[in-house]
Amino acid sequence: MRILVTGGAGYIGSHTVRQLLAGGHDVTVYDNLDAGHKRAVPAERLVVGDLRDIDHLDNLLVVNRIEAVVHFAAFAAVGESVTNPAKYYTNNLLYSLHLLDRCRRNGIGKFVFSSTCAIYGEPDQVPITESTPQRPVNPYGNTKLAFERALADYASAYPFGYCALRYFNAAGAAADGTIGEDHTPETHLIPIVIQAATGKRPHVEIFGTDYPTPDGTCVRDYVHVDDLASAHVLALAQLTPGAKLAYNVGIGRGYSVREVIRTVEEVTGMKVPVKEGPRRAGDPPSLVAGADKIRAELGWAPKYDNLKAIIESAWRWHKAHPAGYEGE
Ligand code: UDP
Repeated sequence: MRILVTGGAGYIGSHTVRQLLAGGHDVTVYDNLDAGHKRAVPAERLVVGDLRDIDHLDNLLVVNRIEAVVHFAAFAAVGESVTNPAKYYTNNLLYSLHLLDRCRRNGIGKFVFSSTCAIYGEPDQVPITESTPQRPVNPYGNTKLAFERALADYASAYPFGYCALRYFNAAGAAADGTIGEDHTPETHLIPIVIQAATGKRPHVEIFGTDYPTPDGTCVRDYVHVDDLASAHVLALAQLTPGAKLAYNVGIGRGYSVREVIRTVEEVTGMKVPVKEGPRRAGDPPSLVAGADKIRAELGWAPKYDNLKAIIESAWRWHKAHPAGYEGE
């Protein structure tokens, strides 16, 4: 298939691009390199451009005779979405709607969308299934849910099929250590704990130790980035006009912040300096995926089914690229 991947030079995007290329697809990456990295994708596949430049995008859709779009390009910092919702509504919703409509006008009938477990907000129960009520608690989640609804309405009205993949906590790196996680600033737990282990930061602060969880710290479902990537490949193969697919993507098992810290110590053999701090606003105590649906319908099965294996892959990447992509 001829596929356009927006945000394809980012963390999850670049791992997905690699798998799509390995599967023989003809991939065009469209990325403004704001959070993406040039080195994360083959140079000949990359078109540098912004989502807001809809004519540039439209031209690519036509000239490259695109058949499917995988749409990653988005801002994804929950805290920032609260203080700067305009940035999130403009990019994650408005520009995304422009892209969706150009797909319609150009007869592109397959669309895979990066959604998030943030659309469920603070669930009453875990595991979270696809029928858990959708009640986002921040602008980031609101924009993702709004776009999912637009996709559903398009699929009802036009010859168009989509799959929304609701990611839990993306983690880890490619098995060969050549591509991985590199955010500036870094806000995600696993890379932060690794940086604290290696002395790149003085300590990791645990955001809250009084949650109603077994050890008082937040529980999350960490899913390997290559397993997230394979979900996109499977979804593309499944899409037909009118398809309205939405799946949770997680391993179905939760780990606490303290368990992450202990596992990083075990994997690296290094001590992690820890400081206990207050809760971070907007963090639900526990987010764990019920991911039976994607297993049953797409045949998805995570290759990494435990935290240690995921952290080992993250550690390989960090050892090979201590300063991330730009340090090379
Ligand atoms: N967390 C933490 N200290 C940090 C960063 C994160 O205690 O420096 C916690 C955070 O409160 C959450 C979990 O680790 O419970 C995962 O956070 P992350 O930002 O990686 O992902 P999120 O769950 O927000 O998508």
